[in-house]
Amino acid sequence: MAESYDYDLFVIGAGSGGVRASRVAAAHGARVAIAEDHRVGGTCVIRGCVPKKLLVYGAHFAEDLQDARRFGWDVPKCRFDWPALRDNVLAEVERLEGIYGEILERNEVELHEQRATVTGPNEVTLADGTRLTAGTILIATGAWPMVPDLPGAELGITSNEVFHLDAVPRRVAIAGGGYIANEFAGIFHEFGAEVTLINRGDRILRHYDEQIRDRLLQISLTKGIGFKFNAPFERIEKAEDGSLDIHLKGSPDPLKADLLLWAVGRQPNSRGLGLEEVGVKLGKDGAVLVDEDNQTSVPSIYAIGDVTNRVQLTPVAIREGQAFADSVFGGKPTRVDYENIPSAVFSHPPIAGVGMTESEARDKLGSYKTYTSDFRPMKNVLAGRNERSLYKMIVEGETERVVGLHMIGPDAPEILQAAAVAVKAGLTKAQFDDTIALHPTMSEELVLMR
Ligand code: NDP
Repeated sequence: MAESYDYDLFVIGAGSGGVRASRVAAAHGARVAIAEDHRVGGTCVIRGCVPKKLLVYGAHFAEDLQDARRFGWDVPKCRFDWPALRDNVLAEVERLEGIYGEILERNEVELHEQRATVTGPNEVTLADGTRLTAGTILIATGAWPMVPDLPGAELGITSNEVFHLDAVPRRVAIAGGGYIANEFAGIFHEFGAEVTLINRGDRILRHYDEQIRDRLLQISLTKGIGFKFNAPFERIEKAEDGSLDIHLKGSPDPLKADLLLWAVGRQPNSRGLGLEEVGVKLGKDGAVLVDEDNQTSVPSIYAIGDVTNRVQLTPVAIREGQAFADSVFGGKPTRVDYENIPSAVFSHPPIAGVGMTESEARDKLGSYKTYTSDFRPMKNVLAGRNERSLYKMIVEGETERVVGLHMIGPDAPEILQAAAVAVKAGLTKAQFDDTIALHPTMSEELVLMR
């Protein structure tokens, strides 16, 4: 590396991808600095996956406490204390932020706690005016919640603010039908709020298998979560009592809510970074365009994670960060394999999937078959909870190679991670069936599908 630069690598953004890339590059011997203008840890740790999952756990106790009575426990009337959960979650986030900071320190990655912009192919400028040079610059600035441009949109909040509420609102409206909308619909519903999900289209979770998402819709409706489909927003107004009037196109009366959560997607965080000025090409929604090696149109500038808008998932950003650092600083050219990425929605109950959905198989394969298991988990039966799980396997017609696995039910994401190894390895239905069932579990259904 040229010693004439201040650093070998300057990373902008200390989220999951940026931290992985910087610590691995440093371990390979590079002189690394990283800039972060918010908090070390990024979306996943500070205002995403981690605090969300903790809220999902917290919310699930509502059902667990109810079910416990059927299992013989004398559960007195319980009261939910939102500030206690919120503060415990925020304290855990702070602890993790500290750990991320320590990882950087331990690996001798210099942290600049301020905004950095790109001012040349090998130069960044910090908010305090300091100019620094680096042989390579990595953009890992993530994505930011989208808020539509319509009157009163600012009266809503986004997933950035949702972890800091003073109280659980009585009526919650959620805009969108994707990951965040369905996860927070479940969370707020379990905390006792009246929840309505407002979707511009006619389906939730567009990228998941139709039968699985239909099952979630059916269970959510049964639980009492409201849905409005084909309902585009017109404007939002604040009523005299401080609540919100949400006017939807084609609806004579506004929907009344105490909180509106925008969950209509996340946009790459590339604005104002000076990228276009130095020649970095941006695509739709400001996504930084990169090749298979994460390199932008300016050879010394790379980008990974949500800012590239390829797959907005933390483990993917981490893989990209690792591949970048190994390739550029470790002498080990590595590319991320984007085939068969497992994903999950932490709804109540959760969904998990890997590989092709049935409609993708229909479009892509000459012939395919599906196997399903539609069952009521043993625990739900005794609890008197009328909630059925659905597992679905999609196989290539002739070889019966498993090309997709989709599940909804308790612990589906925990179960799917292991099964995703088999799908990634290209195993067949017969090989699944060769494995003796582990009884009594829910996951045994994976080897018993008909
Ligand atoms: P999603 O992409 O999951 O869903 C966006 C939703 O908003 C869709 O229903 C979409 O409708 C709708 N929508 C998009 N644009 C508009 C608009 N202008 N007006 C009204 N509705 C609109 O986004 P999320 O915000 O829920 O999450 C962002 C990303 O973060 C996810 O894509 C995912 O990658 C990641 N994430 C992952 C999680 C996990 O792994 N468990 C959890 C949370 C987030 P339509 O279907 O018609 O396009």
